[in-house]
Amino acid sequence: MEMSSRPRERERTVVATMIRVYCRGSGHGGRLCDDCTELLNYARARIEACPFADSKPFCSQCEIHCYEKDMRERIRRVMRFSGPRMLLYHPLVALRHLADQLIRPRGE
Ligand SMILES: [Zn+2]
Repeated sequence: MEMSSRPRERERTVVATMIRVYCRGSGHGGRLCDDCTELLNYARARIEACPFADSKPFCSQCEIHCYEKDMRERIRRVMRFSGPRMLLYHPLVALRHLADQLIRPRGE
């Protein structure tokens, strides 16, 4: 998996990977199911529209909260499920994401 140097690109990669891990791990089927595809497209559109994506921490830490309530719940569920599993299946992505959060703490 390719890791871009741009935070916006990296966030996209992390979100896509987490949703895939969640979908497969929840037994939705062999490929990304319709619900998870919808969520992924939504998350991508939010990252795309975010004016801070290259200078802020991850969306989950963002103060702006641009996700609609329903989608926030869904992405939270994905994060809770996939967070711990990321270290297992995608350690490089997970560590890079952790590093991003440490280097650019909330509110800066
Ligand atoms: Zn799914």
